[in-house]
Amino acid sequence: MIFEYAAAPESRSVVKIDPVYGHFINGKWVNGSSHFNSINPATEEVLSQIALGTAADVDAAVKAARNAFDKSWSKLSGRERGKYLFRIARIMQERAREFAVLETLDNGKPIRESRDVDVPLSAAHFFYHAGWADKLEYAGVDTTTAPHGVVGQIIPWNFPLLMLAWKVAPALATGNTVVLKPAETTSLTALLFAQVCQQAGLPDGVVNIVTGDGSTGSAIVNHPGIDKIAFTGSTEVGKLIARAVAPTNKSLTLELGGKGANIVFGDAAIDETVEGIVNGIFFNQGHVCCAGSRLILQESIADEVLEKLKRRMDKIRVGDPLDKNTDLGAINSAEQLAKIRELTAAGEAEGAGRWSANCELPTNGFWFAPTIFTGVTQAHRIAREEIFGPVLSVLTFRTPAEAIEKANNTPFGLSAGIWSEKGSNILWATQQLRAGVIWANTFNKFDPASPFGGYKESGWGREGGRHGLSAYLKGSAK
Ligand code: NDP
Repeated sequence: MIFEYAAAPESRSVVKIDPVYGHFINGKWVNGSSHFNSINPATEEVLSQIALGTAADVDAAVKAARNAFDKSWSKLSGRERGKYLFRIARIMQERAREFAVLETLDNGKPIRESRDVDVPLSAAHFFYHAGWADKLEYAGVDTTTAPHGVVGQIIPWNFPLLMLAWKVAPALATGNTVVLKPAETTSLTALLFAQVCQQAGLPDGVVNIVTGDGSTGSAIVNHPGIDKIAFTGSTEVGKLIARAVAPTNKSLTLELGGKGANIVFGDAAIDETVEGIVNGIFFNQGHVCCAGSRLILQESIADEVLEKLKRRMDKIRVGDPLDKNTDLGAINSAEQLAKIRELTAAGEAEGAGRWSANCELPTNGFWFAPTIFTGVTQAHRIAREEIFGPVLSVLTFRTPAEAIEKANNTPFGLSAGIWSEKGSNILWATQQLRAGVIWANTFNKFDPASPFGGYKESGWGREGGRHGLSAYLKGSAK
């Protein structure tokens, strides 16, 4: 007998979404001159109208941030700054349900993830950095160092609130002020965060949020009043930003794409590994820069792992992101769905074997069934390019050296996973892998104390931990 799950929808009554939003500049709401729709990707319902930031809006925000830096924020002691950060963290916890429901409506991710991962981790980032604000001299950073001043921060749509927290918390803890632009498709939790800044009594102009599209991001990058840029997003835009910043004195950190290798050795505990593979690629619809999107399986166990993986994938519940039973939500936008479809079509055309879970997809909104490709070779686009969706490319290996060779054969170097019962095997593999973050017998674990970042085209610099703090201070880590 098969038992079906009864629907368990989270109520959306906890959130209040305004029909139109302006920018948050100098502690106040400023009307935009034109607007675009923010939609719920699970239903295509228009949630709100978001202001399209112009160069003049960015200029006003940079001036407010400079003024706040000169007159208030840089004059406060670390202890005082820390108090504001603690206050923000506590308010985020108090309003956690509101943030989680809003994130799920705006982004399409399952409520289970926004409630249990995005929002608690965002608050944790503020708590963690609140603790550092008055202890920077013990963080291993140069004690003679100073904040950059005004920091421009541009974030993507896959973890809207969490990426805001990764950027804003260390910037404020180290004494910088901020002009932040959320992604076009996911501005709502950043605008709710602006309300939290007001509620916390943060001095005007310390955090400014200008919504908009790529042109707004570009206006931030090119503004002469910005001292540092912190960007998370595609490698393509990261390269544009690096070129724009190169002839200036601006500092830059880039957190870009990935094509993470998840290597399974023949001695791995197979049932646990299958759970780890699922978490590695189907968490957040695979919209994860550090996703384990290339499964590199030892040939001796490949058939058994793939059979168990397919059985497990058939049990992934795809559907209403607000339903507490849902495992896989909506693809964030029509553009992203088109990109996933283009790359998966290329996978088939180039000869890889496609298999998708047997699930019913909703008719409205943007959806993609969990999918794997077998028989993938290094030459295939699906082995080289970031799909950024619930799609896994499977490669096999015979010797450990071949596994490492395949894992490192990528222009990226953000994350990797190793599955093996043998500690020596794990230690050997971690030394060979060119990846900024390596998980052993687990995947996609995040902690504010742990630095995150990549090699090669995955970016420059680290976010989180003591290493992330030093990126917000002039001078380098000791
Ligand atoms: P982008 O890199 O375009 O977006 C990231 C942020 O940069 C957004 O806020 C975006 O604004 C902004 N932006 C866009 N163009 C410029 C510019 N010229 N100057 C400054 N800022 C700019 O990523 P996409 O959303 O287009 O996604 C494309 C692909 O990138 C995905 O398919 C995925 O492969 C990868 N990606 C990787 C992420 C990661 O975490 N590493 C995150 C997101 C995407 P706006 O949203 O308004 O366009």
